[in-house]
Amino acid sequence: MTDIGGIISEIAAEMATVEDRGTVASYIPPLAAIDPGHFGIAVIEADGACHVAGDADMAFSIQSVSKVFALTLALGKAGDALWKRVGREPSGSAFNSIVQLETESGVPRNPFINAGAIVVADMILSGHAPREAIGEILRFVRAVAEDDTIGIDEAVARGEQATGFRNIALANYMRAFGNLHHPVDHALGVYFHQCAIAMSCRQLAQAGRYLMMQGRVPGGGRIVSAARARRINALMMMCGHYDGSGEFAFRVGLPGKSGVGGGILAIAPGRASIAVWSPGLNERGNSKIGAVALERLVHRTGWSVFDPAAD
Ligand code: GLN
Repeated sequence: MTDIGGIISEIAAEMATVEDRGTVASYIPPLAAIDPGHFGIAVIEADGACHVAGDADMAFSIQSVSKVFALTLALGKAGDALWKRVGREPSGSAFNSIVQLETESGVPRNPFINAGAIVVADMILSGHAPREAIGEILRFVRAVAEDDTIGIDEAVARGEQATGFRNIALANYMRAFGNLHHPVDHALGVYFHQCAIAMSCRQLAQAGRYLMMQGRVPGGGRIVSAARARRINALMMMCGHYDGSGEFAFRVGLPGKSGVGGGILAIAPGRASIAVWSPGLNERGNSKIGAVALERLVHRTGWSVFDPAAD
């Protein structure tokens, strides 16, 4: 039996000594104020065993990791019709890029770049006031994490709103192509609030279990079909780190979704749901030390999806 607890304690100790930790997001004060020295990791195995190390119980801004949960929810509402309005290809561009939208008629490449996530937020809004749509996302996250203490950091949400000029541009541009059905400020209100959800590594790993367990949660409840879980994982592998997705697949070999708060949710299908957090980012806006930690974890466990099953 692999000693996962031992491995992640070792990794946390190794990460504590790394000097080049990347740069903390500085576009809003609540993120800029975070100490780059933090590191947390939580691993939940298929049998429910939970292992944590470092700052695994400290809440951070999940930012774009929320796009996984919003996509799951929107697929539940719209089904495959969602793919008429959002693509499924890696963009090879920055998370907030507008460049492809012009030639591709306002249809974002995938649901994990900002433009795609804003369309997904617009779909969740369908039949709802913005406040209700935000509540629905938060309820979904709390339900899959089985933790009602998870909340939204209102200071972060206000900061996103005050500085989100690129997102405002993306939304207006897509609206001009008819790919946003609600007022721009409603879709963005939902998007900004989902980005501001605060969670710890332990809570995030809990929330990701359905993607490890073919769409089910412990106890047998079904969140999505096995096919849908497989497809969300495929999208995370191809698009979850924007223009750093190839590098992440090359080094880690797991479906993963990053956020500018420094969190990464990574899924080892059938084996583990993993959350890491280190707020310093690389030049692509993905957690620098977080990816290093996952690379080491996968190396020591053989959990890459490209490794043959150990047993
Ligand atoms: N709130 C951030 C933005 O929209 C989220 C981006 C991210 O985490 N990559 O710019």
